[in-house]
Amino acid sequence: MNDYDSELVRSLLKREGFAFTEDRERADVILLNTCAIRENAHNRVYSHLADLKLLKKQRSLVVGILGCMAQNLKEELTWQQPLVDVLAGPDSYRQLPMLITDAIRSQEEGLDRKGLAVDLSEYETYADVVPDRSDGVNAWIAVMRGCDNFCSFCVVPYTRGRERSRDPEGIVREAQQIADQGFKQITLLGQNVNSYRHGSWDFARLLAAVANVPGIERVRFTSPHPKDFPPSLLEVVAWHPRVCKHIHLPMQSGSDRILSLMNRSYTNREYRALVDRIRTLRPDIALTTDIIAGFCSESDAEFAETYKLTEEIRFHNAFVFKYSERKHTIAARKFPDDILESVKGERVTRLVDLQRRISHEHNRLFIGDTVTVLVEGSSKRSDSQFTGKTDGHITVVWDKSLLPCRPGDLVGVPVRDASPSTLFAHTRPEGREILS
Ligand code: SAM
Ligand code: SF4
Repeated sequence: MNDYDSELVRSLLKREGFAFTEDRERADVILLNTCAIRENAHNRVYSHLADLKLLKKQRSLVVGILGCMAQNLKEELTWQQPLVDVLAGPDSYRQLPMLITDAIRSQEEGLDRKGLAVDLSEYETYADVVPDRSDGVNAWIAVMRGCDNFCSFCVVPYTRGRERSRDPEGIVREAQQIADQGFKQITLLGQNVNSYRHGSWDFARLLAAVANVPGIERVRFTSPHPKDFPPSLLEVVAWHPRVCKHIHLPMQSGSDRILSLMNRSYTNREYRALVDRIRTLRPDIALTTDIIAGFCSESDAEFAETYKLTEEIRFHNAFVFKYSERKHTIAARKFPDDILESVKGERVTRLVDLQRRISHEHNRLFIGDTVTVLVEGSSKRSDSQFTGKTDGHITVVWDKSLLPCRPGDLVGVPVRDASPSTLFAHTRPEGREILS
């Protein structure tokens, strides 16, 4: 969502004549687009600010904080961080050109005026702003913004405000333009994407309509909530040929008491039943999840329930997070953050180790098969290799000499080796070690 918001901001600023540079030394304005979801994202911003403080001592510079931290920490960021000139929350990006221009003028006049725009809106969806997309293969479309679920650990309802959905005709038109520009994949975005509703349109209808746009080869969506999976949505995922066979299904915990404290609105049994429904409909749909370890008052026995459910469901992948108390949330106000950091760390490690083993077992089943991959570009590790994703969102890496192709192509890649996170078209020395 932050990548997408940065594309919106680039578009809004370019319209007003601002130009972008990759070279920090040449920038007159530096904007940090921030996330407030967990402590580590938050800490990274403070470490960037410490760097910028030095730069700002040497020359004139406007520093802006955008996104969820601007919304949540406005007092702290304006008074304790005097180097911040502009703050704009997720619903205030339209005001950025004016705020930045004013901050530049204020510096020229030797003044220190701050520009603040942090009001949340019930209507803002940026439906008329065409994001400045640079990827070329995947295009994000935010179909809804905000969230009304108030999971007790989560800051999103406070930083991104109430749930609101974009009109479906505008979304389908945008999908058509994206296809005409040559993008091959669309990822529909929303904090709670499958609660999308606009008039008689629900998420199942929207997903099918976007997937029917000629030229688009793959459609994904993130992040859904397990409570919003009617049969019609499962049918579209299972049977539409261009909707990827992958569902990210955040579980958070396997304990009913913890799920209830988290305000997740499902039980262990209901979550399991949803997984069964998905797998009965189509066993090859890849399931991934999010899990929080060490939520307030989580006992060893309750953690063991999460461990057991993870082991039984055998997700393809899982993102495991240490519970991190967030300002303003229900949990921060009502429940003490009473699990020792060392215990949280140990629980995360146990779940990560378990999941790595399961992911490796899933991935090894592909060895000897040929998988269909959407080519993304050069791999991060080596310019002589390509990388791309399978339909089930597994990363694949192969030598460019083996299979010449271009980003955006759909190609068949023979799998010769596998790690917990990646499939390879060649055998790696370390891969053989793991396999033996
Ligand atoms: N809307 C999605 C859902 O319903 O699960 C979640 C989106 S949230 C932006 C992404 C993930 O961050 C969550 O699924 C959760 O596991 C994790 N997360 C959110 N708040 C957290 C917190 N306070 N501490 C640790 N992890 C957190
Ligand atoms: Fe946060 Fe997701 Fe819960 Fe909304 S549904 S409050 S985004 S965890």
